[in-house]
Amino acid sequence: MSTNASPDARSEELHRKYIEERNKRISPDREAQYIDAQGDYSDFAKDPYTPEVAERDPVSEEVDVLVVGAGFGGMLTGMNLLKAGIDNFRILDMAGDFGGTWYWNRYPGVRCDIEAYIYLPRLEEVGTVPSERYVTGAEIFEHSKRFARHFGLYDHALLQTRVERMVWDDETLRWTVTTNRGDTIIARFITVSQGPLAIVKLPGIPGIRDFKGEVFHSARWDYEFTGGSADGGCSKLAGKSVGVIGTGATAVQIVPTIADDVEEMFVFQRTPSAVAARNNHATDVDWFKGQPAGWQAERADNFAETLNFSMPATDLLSDCWTDFFNRFKAEFERRKAAGEELDPHDIMQAVDYDKMDDVRAYIEQVIEDKETAEAAKPWYNFLCKRPLYSDDFLESFNKPNVHLVNTDGRGVERVTADGLVANGQEFPLDVIVFATGYEVGAPPHKVGEYEVEGRGGKTLDQKWNEGFRSIHGTKMSGFPNFQVVGQQEQGIANFNYTTVVEIQSAHAVGVIERCLKNGYEAIDFTRDGEDRWVQTIADTYIDRTHFYEECTPGFLNNEGNFKDKPTFIGGTYGPGPLAYRDVIAEWLEQDFERDTEVLGKA
Ligand code: NDP
Repeated sequence: MSTNASPDARSEELHRKYIEERNKRISPDREAQYIDAQGDYSDFAKDPYTPEVAERDPVSEEVDVLVVGAGFGGMLTGMNLLKAGIDNFRILDMAGDFGGTWYWNRYPGVRCDIEAYIYLPRLEEVGTVPSERYVTGAEIFEHSKRFARHFGLYDHALLQTRVERMVWDDETLRWTVTTNRGDTIIARFITVSQGPLAIVKLPGIPGIRDFKGEVFHSARWDYEFTGGSADGGCSKLAGKSVGVIGTGATAVQIVPTIADDVEEMFVFQRTPSAVAARNNHATDVDWFKGQPAGWQAERADNFAETLNFSMPATDLLSDCWTDFFNRFKAEFERRKAAGEELDPHDIMQAVDYDKMDDVRAYIEQVIEDKETAEAAKPWYNFLCKRPLYSDDFLESFNKPNVHLVNTDGRGVERVTADGLVANGQEFPLDVIVFATGYEVGAPPHKVGEYEVEGRGGKTLDQKWNEGFRSIHGTKMSGFPNFQVVGQQEQGIANFNYTTVVEIQSAHAVGVIERCLKNGYEAIDFTRDGEDRWVQTIADTYIDRTHFYEECTPGFLNNEGNFKDKPTFIGGTYGPGPLAYRDVIAEWLEQDFERDTEVLGKA
């Protein structure tokens, strides 16, 4: 790009280049280009970490609340139940322990690039001091287990257990839940927290079953084969040629961690990522311990406000994530002071071109080989894909054994018995890692692979096939005493997912408490209530269609088809997570009776 061009000419040139790059990547198969690791492909999702299924007799019991999912959503729901004095509940999960995504994702280098001080739930109560600003997955998994011990959640857990069916009975006003372990649980209330990163996605390329070497998805790393741990040291990869498919948030962590263990590594890139420096550092323990009570919640709120373009007066984090939003704020304030027009889309685009120029300059500065640096540059708007932060991914390409295979938008074409084919060339490999992500935003029953039958035998699938309708994204008419925790569509989204489940778990327990207090055996949520919320979403909706239609394809824009089928992003509550928290609290206070039908009193 010419740096001497006038601002308008530069914008036009970048816009043209972005559209050209996007068009190269539009696949006629859209999201059907992927295979979910379910059904015939469920072997890709098998648990390598707790391979032995602990023996136990089937459970037959009646509980006040069944919590499905033992990740952050379920953990916080369990904690809130106990704080509300409700202790007759079960937490159920397919995994062998608490932690959700942090149970499953143990690949070498796994970390969270959201600051630990806001991401790890309830640091102050649990007493965890994160060792670094952006901690390892192992540390988050440890915190999850400590959280479960601290709040006494293990006594409520049924692990390695998958729900098969949940059926509502209008006579008994109870849910009957059956599992793959022969359990029958009669539950008065149910909350489900399946998480957005639970269905493992494989590229639907020909020959996926043909490879004769070792092949696995990043979320099911085979340490038996590779040796080592999430810290690296995969010594059994010595002398091996490894292919990594993908350059998303996962791949940028794996590649640098195993680069020195392998003989050769080929990183197959379809779309370059916007990778900026993360600047991780050890926790200043004196600073951490000197924080006043309630600081974590305040900090997380500040992050949520900043990322919602709400421009709070102070940015408490000032980190890699908030940089873009601070640039927006600075430009907004500059234009305001200069009496210029304040069109937010216009400001955002101007800031975006500069931000992406800086990202591309950073890539050019870090990667020594000019051709590789050029190939690694992303050409799309900053928020088209999840921004990535790393202090060692780009540097990996300076090692002689790490090769970027730039497919210029075409992706890997085929898997053969011996390796992968890209750009018409076969790359012989010993190991293939699919760092190809998840089906983000799938409805909870699809993620959990269970059936939910509400009133009159109507399933959630049947209900949602008529279009997604809810109150607050979390409560559905025809599904009494049933709530979703972690719902983004018609709910809220945030790069710090902990904020979403903090808000929705507290609300779900608030609804349960209200029923118990009022002696309601069961409540259904009314269609009028749904109509009102659907209208609220329509009224507050921020139309991002133009932005996402022009974006390079990915899971945020339904692989380039946002117009016809907006992703969860298209339907979140416009004013953002903190306003949503106020609105649902007010609903519980004032409108609960209006939007619910009492089915029976105790
Ligand atoms: P992503 O969906 O972000 O990335 C998948 C990658 O696979 C993309 O680079 C994609 O290319 C590539 N791909 C898919 N099919 C092909 C093909 N046929 N040939 C070549 N490449 C292909 O998955 P991730 O697991 O990286 O991340 C998913 C989410 O997990 C993140 O968005 C984030 O929410 C979370 N995460 C968070 C982390 C954190 O630090 N907080 C760390 C890791 C994950 P293309 O871009 O062209 O589609």
